[in-house]
Amino acid sequence: MTGLPLPIGSRDALAEIIRDWSELLIMSDYDGTLVSIRERPELAVPGSELVAAVDRLRELENIAFAVISGRSLEDLEKMIPVSGIYLIGCHGAQFQTPNGEQFEKVDPGRLQPVIDRLAELASGCTGGKKGFLIEHKGISLALHYRQAEPGAVPGVLESFIKKAAPLMAGAGLETIAGKKVLEIRPRNINKGEAVKYLMDLYPEHYPVYFGDDTTDEDGFAAVSERGTGVLVSRRPVCGIAASLRLPGPEDVIRFLENIAAGS
Ligand SMILES: [Mg+2]
Repeated sequence: MTGLPLPIGSRDALAEIIRDWSELLIMSDYDGTLVSIRERPELAVPGSELVAAVDRLRELENIAFAVISGRSLEDLEKMIPVSGIYLIGCHGAQFQTPNGEQFEKVDPGRLQPVIDRLAELASGCTGGKKGFLIEHKGISLALHYRQAEPGAVPGVLESFIKKAAPLMAGAGLETIAGKKVLEIRPRNINKGEAVKYLMDLYPEHYPVYFGDDTTDEDGFAAVSERGTGVLVSRRPVCGIAASLRLPGPEDVIRFLENIAAGS
């Protein structure tokens, strides 16, 4: 952990990583990291530059690439139309390997009914107020409020958390606040566990993790054991576990292109 704002100027450090390591494990969050955040999640489609860069990376035998997102795996598959990479959904609960094999770290049959009930509670708490969006992801739930009236947000969140608490405690779920979204997910599932899983699979690869939000902190902490965490943010941020910073998704894509170009 650093108490100082991360300096920009990480491009040189990343160029050094490409130069120094022939095998890389590149892991990245999606929203706000590979694509800019949009008003609604379904609008955050990848640009052709990103698709082309990932398409080139997956053909390189010395590179392993993973997208680790809070989105459901089903949603990620739709957003990123490229096979041959790891897609990891619901904060590390759902996995798809490069050869298309899928598995889950939690039992969806046990959680689905609880998430159904939590979605109903969330719907009751928003009471049709404009701008709230409830996203049922099977084994987790997201309550988005990017487009809600700011004055209405605290009341809705407080009443939802109060009503949901007993159900969540019983099912081993926790809340985590992201950028204009409240996420509910299994307590033992986080992006750090997904990062550790991949680092164990690729012990010879140098790991780099890119992320932009509070849910990426576990990823930064896990990768820092023997790799590098890169915060994607236009402004300096204090007290996070990343060691480098890039301003925006376009810089992450440039890094991916540079790996493919070998420079
Ligand atoms: Mg993000």
